[in-house]
Amino acid sequence: MSVYSGPVFDMAANQFAVIADHLSIPLDERDRLLLPKRAITVSCPIHRDDGTIAVFEGYRVQHHLTLGPTKGGTRFAPSVDIGEVAALAIWMSWKCALAGLPYGGAKGGVRVDLSRLSRRELELLSRRYMQEMIPFVGPHTDVMAPDMGTNEQVMAWFMDTYSMYQGHTVTEIVTGKPVASGGTVGRLEATGRGVAYLARRVLNELSINLNGATAVIQGFGNVGSYAAFELHQYGLKVIAVADHTGALYDKSGLDIPALMHHASTHGSIAGFSNELAYDPDQILTLPCDVVVPAAMERVIDAHIAQNMKCRVLAEGANGPTTPEADLVLEKRQDEIFVIPDILCNSGGVVVSYFEWVQDLQQLFWEEEEVTRREYHILDRAFDQMVKRAKADKIPHRTAAMAIGVEKVRAAKTTRGLFP
Ligand code: GLU
Repeated sequence: MSVYSGPVFDMAANQFAVIADHLSIPLDERDRLLLPKRAITVSCPIHRDDGTIAVFEGYRVQHHLTLGPTKGGTRFAPSVDIGEVAALAIWMSWKCALAGLPYGGAKGGVRVDLSRLSRRELELLSRRYMQEMIPFVGPHTDVMAPDMGTNEQVMAWFMDTYSMYQGHTVTEIVTGKPVASGGTVGRLEATGRGVAYLARRVLNELSINLNGATAVIQGFGNVGSYAAFELHQYGLKVIAVADHTGALYDKSGLDIPALMHHASTHGSIAGFSNELAYDPDQILTLPCDVVVPAAMERVIDAHIAQNMKCRVLAEGANGPTTPEADLVLEKRQDEIFVIPDILCNSGGVVVSYFEWVQDLQQLFWEEEEVTRREYHILDRAFDQMVKRAKADKIPHRTAAMAIGVEKVRAAKTTRGLFP
């Protein structure tokens, strides 16, 4: 019996089985590639503002250590469990390998409802979580970053807590930090920018005029908001946006800069406009050119996949599409171009890699260089994926994952098994 269970872990395992079959990986090699190297569970007690003690469960899963340190975000959300974190760590491995980064995948999380925490309690929880993780992380062991529910401020607290224990500043212990404390320019925008850049590339290849093209964005956090902003800058009309509070729809295009300003001051899109309110369950199937899921995993099931009316599915979230939906999308591949998550949202970890490199060298780049290098890596991975999909007659997700799995497998095979 494995400790990893639940629908998200099953999904990652199911996808891996498809890849392993496609690559004819012998059965006895499969567990070595799939099962995480380490999984850590900690309890994080804090003093609440009312004087009582509350304990939160935290996790960190390090998938493989074969190519270098592990890398991945830390999620603060009520849904977090060890199976979800393990799946997200596995996806990080294929994502980093596809991009050619010298990392294995990791992911962490704390099961917490942030709406019930004050800023002081959030700081205590962030610091205690990092403090519990100190024996297991390090700039050459495991490097954390933001994910759902965490941000630059939480990364600054992580970095400060780790540094206070070391007795000197160690900026390279986490990425996604504020520029003021060792972060890189271009990291905050990197994931959303990468999503929009790849979506634009596909629109161009499909000869769809950017001016007047339409986009729908599910999720308006770090990924969704910057993806919306970039698409808006490219000339697209963002006709619908949803977050955990509801949705907005305007067929003539939402004012994205104003919505970003509203969301950053109010914490969500709620209250932006009553007239434009719309049913969030309906937005993924609106007729449009680009759909960007940028929130939770498993939001596109077979039924939604059957009813989507877009030309491009640009996956900003991790794991938004279920394996059943993938079967539907495979049949519809001439209608809908899928940019799978491990490619589409990889701009985030790519620029995290640049941040780590800059911190290690204490030599900082201009934003133009960061973004140019990000797009170069995204283009290279995109070309490899499309070439592989055509050559093997397989869907884009299978091709992208196959490239990632192959690279990890080659590293494991050439290093051998110790002892
Ligand atoms: N959490 C992000 C992801 O899922 C970024 C990870 C990182 O920058 O290390 O890719």
